Amino acid sequence: MRIAVIGAGIVGVSTALWLARDGHEVTVFDRVDPGDPAQASYGNAGLLARSMIVQVPTPGLLRAVPKMLFGTDGPLFLKWRYLPRLMPWLVPFLRTGDEASVRRTAAALSDLLFDAVDQHRAIARGTAAEPFIATGEYTFLYRNRAAYLAEALDFDIRREHGFTWDELDRAALLERDPALGPEAGYGATMHDHGWITDPAAYVAALFDACRALGAAFIRAEVDAIRPDGQGAQITYNGEEHHFDQAVIASGAWSRKLAESLGHRIPLETERGYHVMLQNPSHRPPQPYLIGAAKFGITPMAQGLRCAGLVEFGGLDALPSTAPTDLFRRTIRRLYPGIEWQDETIWMGHRPSTIDSLPMIGQSARAKGIHFAFGAQHIGMTSGPKTGRLIADHIAGKTPNIDMTPFKSDRFDG
Ligand SMILES: Cc1cc2nc3c(=O)[nH]c(=O)nc-3n(C[C@H](O)[C@H](O)[C@H](O)COP(=O)(O)OP(=O)(O)OC[C@H]3O[C@@H](n4cnc5c(N)ncnc54)[C@H](O)[C@@H]3O)c2cc1C
Repeated sequence: MRIAVIGAGIVGVSTALWLARDGHEVTVFDRVDPGDPAQASYGNAGLLARSMIVQVPTPGLLRAVPKMLFGTDGPLFLKWRYLPRLMPWLVPFLRTGDEASVRRTAAALSDLLFDAVDQHRAIARGTAAEPFIATGEYTFLYRNRAAYLAEALDFDIRREHGFTWDELDRAALLERDPALGPEAGYGATMHDHGWITDPAAYVAALFDACRALGAAFIRAEVDAIRPDGQGAQITYNGEEHHFDQAVIASGAWSRKLAESLGHRIPLETERGYHVMLQNPSHRPPQPYLIGAAKFGITPMAQGLRCAGLVEFGGLDALPSTAPTDLFRRTIRRLYPGIEWQDETIWMGHRPSTIDSLPMIGQSARAKGIHFAFGAQHIGMTSGPKTGRLIADHIAGKTPNIDMTPFKSDRFDG
């Protein structure tokens, strides 16, 4: 079949590669090249965080918001002018913070993420992307045991879904990473995780593998999509073109195309940041997630990447400086005396729905048009499996996970 994939981030490229391997004639559209800094897939923390099955809104979140937003070192940022536009998304998003919803979301995310490292290995096997996959442990770091215990619900849920970890006191942490400062008082080290040592190069290498199988790339913005009975009509550069199937994998920008099919898509950007420290005087042996500051620290090919945080401010506002200052303050406390030669900073857009689950599968209103977007904080991890699920559906195979939580029309009513 002739299949169009709109978006060349990790999700679109993974989908395109599985489709090309199935023998389809694939055309990928994007206004930027795969691996471009405009993509969320470029600047993320690179964690194959298969245990990140607990959504952001949890029972204590509402009470914690003022401190997260106004406290020194709070990990939440807001462009206040954007608040009126944010409210229709924010209110239902925060309402999902009850324990039953958190557990429901975790069950769906566990299905999607549990074998994520293997899914990355499978998609990258035999391609130039393979060397960018690192595997090992991944540690949640806390000031002390009390801070770890404050997240007991998160860890209980992880345990219920089969994840295991070692609890490390300060002495055990120092044994693994002697440069850690006094703020690293307790840790939970998860097993069998992975990380990508250069996310941009990884996406580009996966795309090269698509090209090698004959996939075409059209560097253009897709302006419109509509079903035509036998597939989809796609408008770009002022002209409509027919494809037998189409996949919307346009990240945080997917809303317009998906809503034009008649769906309601409560999708918002959770803006996130990174600072890449080049030639740092210290590199951790494996990635950390800083519990209090809510960001990842990942050893990468070009240096040490601090990445994460959340800022609400929409797709168009310029980056802020406060989040990157927070990275620098935190890393200096984590590794007292750390120095680095140079740094680059970046801001990108996580595509987030109000129920913290991606939209994966065929549109209930437009046969032949598929959704593959909305993977919020875990899209790098889930990208290859998402691509495989879409390709399998097009091939008529039944998935081995329950796809109901990801359905395209779940917000329509
Ligand atoms: C700071 C930060 C840290 C993160 N850390 C992690 C992490 O450690 N692990 C993890 O799993 N996830 C992480 N994420 C989330 C992850 O990066 C995203 O969920 C994922 O990259 C989304 O991939 P995507 O392909 O859906 O979107 P993108 O990578 O944003 O790609 C979408 C593409 O669609 C294109 N596009 C949009 N509309 C159109 C159109 N109309 N026509 C043509 N092209 C179009 C865009 O140009 C873009 O290239 C992080 C995100 C951020 C911001």
